Amino acid sequence: MAVKRRVVVVGGGAAGFFAAITCAEALGAAGEVTLYEATAHPLAKVRVSGGGRCNVTHACFDPRELSRRYPRGGRELLGAFHRWQPRDTVDWFAARGVATKVEPDGRMFPVTDDSATIADCLLAAAATAGVRVVTAQGVRKAEALPGGAGFWLTLTDGAEVRCERLLLATGGNRSSAGFTIAAALGHTIEPLVPSLFTFHIDDALLVGLSGLATTATVAVPGTRLVETGPMLVTHWGLSGPAVLRLSAWGARILAERNYEFPLTVNFAPPRNREAVLAELVAQRARHPRRQVANGDPFGLPQRLWERLVSAAGVPGDAQWAGIGNAALGALAGAVAATELRVVGKSTFKEEFVTCGGVRLAEVDFRTLESRKCPGLYFAGEVLDIDGITGGFNFQAAWTTGWLAGRALAAPDPASAPA
Ligand SMILES: Cc1cc2nc3c(=O)[nH]c(=O)nc-3n(C[C@H](O)[C@H](O)[C@H](O)COP(=O)(O)OP(=O)(O)OC[C@H]3O[C@@H](n4cnc5c(N)ncnc54)[C@H](O)[C@@H]3O)c2cc1C
Repeated sequence: MAVKRRVVVVGGGAAGFFAAITCAEALGAAGEVTLYEATAHPLAKVRVSGGGRCNVTHACFDPRELSRRYPRGGRELLGAFHRWQPRDTVDWFAARGVATKVEPDGRMFPVTDDSATIADCLLAAAATAGVRVVTAQGVRKAEALPGGAGFWLTLTDGAEVRCERLLLATGGNRSSAGFTIAAALGHTIEPLVPSLFTFHIDDALLVGLSGLATTATVAVPGTRLVETGPMLVTHWGLSGPAVLRLSAWGARILAERNYEFPLTVNFAPPRNREAVLAELVAQRARHPRRQVANGDPFGLPQRLWERLVSAAGVPGDAQWAGIGNAALGALAGAVAATELRVVGKSTFKEEFVTCGGVRLAEVDFRTLESRKCPGLYFAGEVLDIDGITGGFNFQAAWTTGWLAGRALAAPDPASAPA
């Protein structure tokens, strides 16, 4: 009788479950897939994700375009997306009874608007495929056997387990044993810092504007970091897609600055300062008798416009005709190049991820197998991969999980018939 392949998946998050299900479905009776989850609550992040709705993927079906949404890992994921991309994710869930919908900004959610739909689907698929899910049991240590013969694992209760193939899908939590295990098996861990955070700003310009949403270009002077999109004023500073994207692309550089840096905000993109000034000059000529405070030519929220007028030193009741060129220049500066100072960060509650993790050059992205340790595989956020908000982080977990799951089930080249 043929010996069954023993596969162990460490980590019961999105990536671990997707890999375990894919592997067990492919192996069938030829193997045994066991998933260890350290906590009593598998898929905990799926359940809280997307504000409880689970932004499961993004309606971006072109692999090249998709790969551009990853500050780290985009290049490596490009080939992987040709094999498993958002359309495959949508089809996979649909085949298991979960319909999804696209929101106007491209984010995709289950039609139930309930993340439990996704978690329950993964749990049911794992049970159907015969994955043995062991909760409240972590993997503490892994030792590679000589000649690529497999691994001896030590569990948190001290038990020892043997397997032929091992997948680390332990996520991005810096205290996870996954990074220690990967390092012990020869891998480099790129420094772990947060991505997707909001900015703390203590500036009179923003006081009382909490809740105000507008479109802006935000940039960090002296760097190439610049993003345009919706921006939200919060009680503590700034948030919204433009700010979150800037935090993702700047995750490393902003950590090096201890989250203290200048930020310029253009409230009237795509116009630059000169174009804004020209518009203000034209406005003065068009409406000389109109009050400046009521004469915003850029369509900004009224409260914001009044604040910018006041920040430029222009009296609220002044008429356009009474505004000299110097004051117009100051107003153009306030609209197109307000300088603020970021003094810290907050985690974005809807979705946050870790920048850093297992170095990508040490992993074969066709299979997600380690280039350092045969039989060892990785999937999900344990890798140095992170995306911007919008469902891209789960998509990376589904893609790497699926590829790893297929490879974990593939025959050993050494045992394949000649
Ligand atoms: C609040 C929040 C909301 C989010 N919302 C979204 C969203 O809507 N859309 C999106 O695309 N992304 C979202 N993200 C990001 C997304 O959740 C992650 O990128 C994704 O969950 C990563 O999946 P993973 O399986 O790699 O890791 P995780 O989900 O972190 O799972 C890893 C698992 O491994 C377990 N583990 C760790 N070490 C061990 C060990 N030694 N032994 C056994 N088990 C271990 C952990 O307990 C954990 O359950 C959100 C993140 C947060 C924090």
